[in-house]
Amino acid sequence: MTAPASMFIDGRWVPSSSGNTRDIHCPADGSFVATVSEGTSADAEAAIAAARRAFDDGPWRAVPTSQRGDLLLAVAREIRARKAEFARAETLDTGKRLVESEIDMEDIANCFDYFGKLAGQDAGRIVDAGDPNVVSRIVYEPIGVCGLIGPWNYPLLQVAWKVAPALAAGNTFVLKPSELSPHTAMLLMDVLHSLDLPAGVGNLVLGAGAEVGAPLSGHPDVDLVSFTGGLETGKVIAASAAGTVKKVALELGGKNPNIIFADADFDAALDNALNGAFVHSGQVCSAGARLIVEESIRDRFVDELVRRAKKIRLGGPFDTDAETGPLISAAHRDKVHKYVQDGIAEGAVLRCGGAFGAGDLESGYYYEPTVLDNARSGMSIVVEEAFGPVVTVESFTTEDEAVAIGNDTRYGLAGGVWTQDAGKGQRVAGRLRHGTIWINDFHPYLPQAEWGGFGLSGVGRELGPTGLAEYQEAKHIYQNLTPAVTGWFPEH
Ligand code: NAD
Repeated sequence: MTAPASMFIDGRWVPSSSGNTRDIHCPADGSFVATVSEGTSADAEAAIAAARRAFDDGPWRAVPTSQRGDLLLAVAREIRARKAEFARAETLDTGKRLVESEIDMEDIANCFDYFGKLAGQDAGRIVDAGDPNVVSRIVYEPIGVCGLIGPWNYPLLQVAWKVAPALAAGNTFVLKPSELSPHTAMLLMDVLHSLDLPAGVGNLVLGAGAEVGAPLSGHPDVDLVSFTGGLETGKVIAASAAGTVKKVALELGGKNPNIIFADADFDAALDNALNGAFVHSGQVCSAGARLIVEESIRDRFVDELVRRAKKIRLGGPFDTDAETGPLISAAHRDKVHKYVQDGIAEGAVLRCGGAFGAGDLESGYYYEPTVLDNARSGMSIVVEEAFGPVVTVESFTTEDEAVAIGNDTRYGLAGGVWTQDAGKGQRVAGRLRHGTIWINDFHPYLPQAEWGGFGLSGVGRELGPTGLAEYQEAKHIYQNLTPAVTGWFPEH
């Protein structure tokens, strides 16, 4: 059998230089999805060289920003036109419900639309130099070659947040999606190719992080590395990038508080607590994994949460009765289970879940929605990101205590506040040290609003104007209209 040509380097689909392949299986039932190329570091280096040439010698960075914007708008149209194909590919790789993948594809198209429109508005800035004979202006230039590394939970969405601004700014890129979920990245490259993106501007490499991902952070010809994934990988990438002083953007994990005050709309808070914790089986960086409930409503709230969590229907991606799906792999499910068991050993009370999916679900990697009550600061399940369908419950009696518990984490990605007191909502939002705060909601994000974390949740921001600025260098051009002798070093 000839090796599949699933990587896109210098304008062509190519196989791994080693001929190695990887089989992708659907986490919902272990069924075979496809065989793809398993790249090597030499493939990554070839892709970096192509991106370097395309940046240094090619026409791309001189293409007017409005034309680059038009390309991104066309990408958005193509993704919408091929939504069924994209969504199915995402679902087969991740096991997530088809309906969720369809929502993701719409979000992805919206992201390309946003950066497509933003690109054309970028005209730089005139600065008042305080001298009428000086013209001083700031221009925003592309950084160069960008290494873009993505995770498996929202495979195309997370890389769209990188690819769209990278192209809008005039960069070239080498994309490495998670080895577990390569297919939508391949479809994206197909779209870019069909829209005549010049050769070498966009490149795709596939394979294990330590092999094909590592050169993207360590190579001197890469100018920026943008990574979304786990904390430990993020630290390795940051350390590796330091050797060549490249720009680094990190979108890491979260341990996100969801604070419920007694005066909240009870039903809305409960519904959103379920959604916050269990959507996509908790494999969401901003999952509301720490429920922090005011003592006076705690018992009622947690009893209802447990009753509802027990009813959540697990199932495969095409089961229209299913409400959430499997975890990405057996290894990940085992890791989540270990966190739950450690939490119980440390004194948390298991109210529901804590077990693998049974019966028909045994061929996939399902884990039951799990509520751990009586959680306390310092427990590993409260400190570390489990990245599964597990929510811990803590309680408070005062606003100050709620804020203190909400900030009792070294992560700082997102958090929710539920109250019908508008002033209290704003006060608490202002004091929480997290990159996104929802008041009376959980999970929505906007392409025009910055996304990113405080503390261990990362460095930099994606989306919004800052998400474009991450991919730009600001250059100051200072022109003296009346050149004159300064006299600083006079002629003696
Ligand atoms: P991961 O860190 O295991 O892998 C992420 C990517 O890094 C993969 O493509 C992997 O192959 C690659 N990689 C691994 N080692 C590498 C190395 N040495 N050099 C370069 N690349 C390497 O993360 P994951 O399990 O795929 O994703 C889950 C994590 O992502 C969770 O922690 C989650 O919170 C985080 N996440 C964060 C956000 C956010 O916006 N902050 C969004 C989604 C996911």
